[in-house]
Amino acid sequence: MSEHRRRAMIPIVPVRPTAAPTHDVDPTQVDRGKIKSKAAGLTAIAVTAQRGMEQMGARRSFATLRRINQADGFDCMGCAWPDPHPEERSFAEFCENGAKAVAEEATLRRVGPSFFAEHPVAELSGWTDYLLGQQGRITHPMVLRDGGTHYEPISWDDAYALVAERLRGLASPDEAVFYTSGRASNEAAFAYQLFARAFGTNNLPDCSNMCHESTSVALAEVIGIGKGSVSLDDIHEAELILIAGQNPGTNHPRMLTALEIAKRGGATIIAVNPLPETGLRGFDNPQKVKGLVGLGTELADEFLPIRLGGDLALFQAIGSLLVARHDAGEDVFDTDFIERHTAGFEEWAAHMRELDWDLVDEATSLDRAQIERVAELFATSRKTVLCWAMGVTQHRHAVATIKEMANVALVQGNIGKPGAGLCPVRGHSNVQGDRTMGIWEKLPPHFGDALEAEFGIDVPRERGLDVVNSIRAMRDGEAKVLVGLGGNFAAATPDTEVTHDALRSVDLVVNISTKLNRSHVVVGHTSLILPTLGRTERDEQRSGLQGVTVEDSMSSVHLSHGRLEPAGPELRSEVSIISGIAAATLAGQGAAGEIDWAAMADDYSVIRRHIERVVPGCEAYDEKVHRPGGFVLPHPPRDSRTFETPSQRAVLTVSPLQMVSAPEGHLVLQSLRSHDQFNTTIYGHDDRYRGISGGREIVMVHPDDLATLGFSDGDHVDVIAPWPDGTQRVVRDFRVVSYPTVRGCVAAYYPEVNPLVALESTAVGSNCPVSKAVIVRLVPAGQAPPHSASDDLEAGDDSEKRSEVKPHHLS
Ligand code: SF4
Repeated sequence: MSEHRRRAMIPIVPVRPTAAPTHDVDPTQVDRGKIKSKAAGLTAIAVTAQRGMEQMGARRSFATLRRINQADGFDCMGCAWPDPHPEERSFAEFCENGAKAVAEEATLRRVGPSFFAEHPVAELSGWTDYLLGQQGRITHPMVLRDGGTHYEPISWDDAYALVAERLRGLASPDEAVFYTSGRASNEAAFAYQLFARAFGTNNLPDCSNMCHESTSVALAEVIGIGKGSVSLDDIHEAELILIAGQNPGTNHPRMLTALEIAKRGGATIIAVNPLPETGLRGFDNPQKVKGLVGLGTELADEFLPIRLGGDLALFQAIGSLLVARHDAGEDVFDTDFIERHTAGFEEWAAHMRELDWDLVDEATSLDRAQIERVAELFATSRKTVLCWAMGVTQHRHAVATIKEMANVALVQGNIGKPGAGLCPVRGHSNVQGDRTMGIWEKLPPHFGDALEAEFGIDVPRERGLDVVNSIRAMRDGEAKVLVGLGGNFAAATPDTEVTHDALRSVDLVVNISTKLNRSHVVVGHTSLILPTLGRTERDEQRSGLQGVTVEDSMSSVHLSHGRLEPAGPELRSEVSIISGIAAATLAGQGAAGEIDWAAMADDYSVIRRHIERVVPGCEAYDEKVHRPGGFVLPHPPRDSRTFETPSQRAVLTVSPLQMVSAPEGHLVLQSLRSHDQFNTTIYGHDDRYRGISGGREIVMVHPDDLATLGFSDGDHVDVIAPWPDGTQRVVRDFRVVSYPTVRGCVAAYYPEVNPLVALESTAVGSNCPVSKAVIVRLVPAGQAPPHSASDDLEAGDDSEKRSEVKPHHLS
């Protein structure tokens, strides 16, 4: 056993904070261990302590971690999983990965002007995402001037003036793009969208465009609101919970506590996923003695190892079997609900009766008997919750799949009653709140009307740019300024080579950030880094200490208060930075120039009172967020079984059966995250549950596929993704890992394989990048063509290349 492996298994807790690492691991060198059968347990506590000590030291770790997700504390900046009722919260209301996120923000490591003077951007661009992120908190506003080699300090006033000058110099406001990450608070998000619209554009792409956009589109069409309908209590009370395309053990770890409670109450759990993820199988709750000694809870009663993109076929199969039972006279549908609240039942049922089962077999790779067992569980459950995440949303037919999941829920009346509902699980802590606050390239008319009435401005009504279209606009010279409110645009986005070229072509990139990341080293002609406060830190403004609000995955809104001293005296809050840029940009611009930005920056209650008058469902917002635990936003289907669709009914939809089909010798690749990362932030190199540690440039392949293709575990390969236009994208020298994924389906880490996701490959209806179904082939390392452009293909080869790839077909 290697030294590295031993360390991966038994975390060593340092006695004092450690300096930032100065070098990375070899990205292709990997140690293998056993796949874990249960998530969390004692090791999670040890890792929490280790990462806290490394970054914060003992006292700061204790003082900070105990405040995560407490009613008087701060909201975890990790995922959007909801908190229990205030009186039910435990002393440690966080998970291992939430603790890692907090440790990275509350770190004692600093990146100041001397760091930037020492390291030219050209050098930093060769560092891995891990190494960049580990350097610590950025302490000063920095600028990289046109033709410069190093970032250099700039005053706040000069930075605001620079942004204002570039924005005012644009030929049209639509040449600016205002991106938002899901960490931004509601107050910051509201101020930011107000600024963009007062400036004159709806170019407000956000990270939601790349994750749950398919959910928002599908649910808005079928139930009238693009949000999930369940509460935490519904999960606890459910009889049946289905979890599709989700890895809760890593990406929403406290969901396991909710599943454990449901399980104890007698719930049955069905997990649907191409990989047997540990967090779907079992949970050693570290807050329970049984969990600490490895005697925790078995979770999934049925595990369905589904082929990538097979979920639509699965839900049609379940629907078809339920219709057959209904036709045979069994009481499997809620006919009263169907009659009173839905439209389209007969059309949907007729479609289900004609299901092509051969296609279901091909699309899902599942055993027919197992699908029948699952349908039986649906037939007998009266309270069912359907959960999903990006394993469902990032497919070409994702919108159709989610609508099919809604069909299955609606015909059984599983919405708007206790213990039942639709549960899309959001990734970043306030991604749902940002959308509620108006961060959306599609401005709803009523929202625009309310903004105009509140601020006396004219707002643009044309649709703005989402993420994919923003990249196209930058690539084509139509967008010249990119402002990023948090996030890591350069790493989060698809088609990395295209995206990075696009970023390098713009006149000005502005990143409002806490820590160094890829977006600071893939630079525009001029680039600014504006360092901002994190959630853990005191936000002191002219009127006193400020709190900010966030909305979780279940529409609950609450306040978050940081208490730590800011990482440096130069830091400003997101609201303060937005207000500074807005005031400088809009001065003298008629009604837009009259907006009182200083009042908003001085006292966030002023923003919350604007929110009350503009955002639907936020009446008395400032008062309600101060209640213990905050308040829950209205959700008509959940609250009263009302559906704000054109027909005022929930809509049962008919979708043709679609699937992902790879040609001979090809595989279907999905990107996924390691247990040691959150989105683009890489915490470390230990994907503990999967038993993989060390480098991240790997591709997980089923052992039988390896044998068929003539590769072995440990071989190095180039991964080639051909696209129907004749182009092909390549990542090179990835280490093959033999892994029990479904045959024909392979997996690799995000963002390392983002270069393989073509910008044109997006979900129908939502434009969400298709990161879960990339057709690839593997060749021995060094054998891929030197460039990815189509002109690398041999003359006359084009038609063959086109026919080689049929990413999708219809039945
Ligand atoms: S489950 Fe999500 S929100 Fe909760 S502590 Fe973990 S990362 Fe943070």
